[in-house]
Amino acid sequence: MSKVAETVLEVDLGALRHNYEFLKSTLRPDTKFIAVVKAFAYGHDSRRIAPFLEKLGVDYFAVAYTSEGIELREAGIQTPVMVLHPQSVHFDDLADHRLEPCIYSHRILSLFLETAKTRKMDAYPVHLKFNTGLNRLGFGEHEVERVVTALQEQTNIKAVSLFSHLAASEDPDEEVFTRNQIAAFRRIADNFEKLAGYRPLLHQSNTSGILCHPDARFDMVRSGIGLYGYGNDEIKDRLLRPVGSLKTVISQIHQLEKGDSLGYNRGYIAEKTTMTATLPLGHADGIGRQYGKGKGHVSVNGQKAPIIGNVCMDMLMIDVTGIDCKEGDEVIVYGKNPTAEEFAATANTISYELITGISRRVKRVYI
Ligand code: PLP
Repeated sequence: MSKVAETVLEVDLGALRHNYEFLKSTLRPDTKFIAVVKAFAYGHDSRRIAPFLEKLGVDYFAVAYTSEGIELREAGIQTPVMVLHPQSVHFDDLADHRLEPCIYSHRILSLFLETAKTRKMDAYPVHLKFNTGLNRLGFGEHEVERVVTALQEQTNIKAVSLFSHLAASEDPDEEVFTRNQIAAFRRIADNFEKLAGYRPLLHQSNTSGILCHPDARFDMVRSGIGLYGYGNDEIKDRLLRPVGSLKTVISQIHQLEKGDSLGYNRGYIAEKTTMTATLPLGHADGIGRQYGKGKGHVSVNGQKAPIIGNVCMDMLMIDVTGIDCKEGDEVIVYGKNPTAEEFAATANTISYELITGISRRVKRVYI
């Protein structure tokens, strides 16, 4: 493993390939794969991740916002891109870049139809989102007929897929809830087909849906976190490989004596002689104050060192008492050990929040 000379997010493209191939191997050969690359490809930089996945043969990309889809097009992506949560103010930009909106309400449907009519679109592909229990976005089950009628009155847009999102697919205690969501989605799809006379592609599973609910795989799956190495399932997680490793270096070492304080607000007071190391990494890089005051631990030459005091904007300090280390040594914040999931858990959060929060000023290095 390479040694770094500054804070970097090391991105292991071999691990990404492994995760994609593993997830694909759990599916029927004809099940399509939607790679979720929103939020800068969960922090790994969609402009590098999407072209890599495109070469591996993913069928679709999904992003949250139009601007993220435009970034993919600017990176040369030709594969279809669905925009999960488009804002109507960007519909022209979306169409200019051949991005496909997810339509989740009658308001969004009529706004997109206005754009489609003005631009004289013909059978422009859209994706219809139905709510089956997450209660976040989506048409209700009772609205299928009204949606189909609106679609049949025009030829500017065509629903190429119907989808829903699972609320708790990773949670064995919510098995019944998930099964009800899957059943509701089947009813919606059947009703749509009966009324519209055709069956669009169906998709409901995120990564843990793929891993834990084979009956929810339908025609396509949407995987994000699994591609990056996490699946919310302890056993199956071992079959995935973490893609991102956040590494940094020791800038300076200080010796504190009993009673000395460290950092802003004197957030740490030494109870005895203590060796501390300052790292060039702070909350502006994505490691927030919740990791300070002894919660988060990083790895210094294979040994665990707690983050002490308050995390600053561009720096944080660790306790390296008894650890054989020197200025310039490499520090691993997360990667293989601890994993992003384990590091995030120290601050009561999840890998998603941690890895999507690594800011753009942290250099990405691809290995
Ligand atoms: N589909 C939708 C609608 C999402 O919002 C997300 C992520 O939040 C995903 C799929 C991917 O989920 P995961 O990262 O758990 O695979």
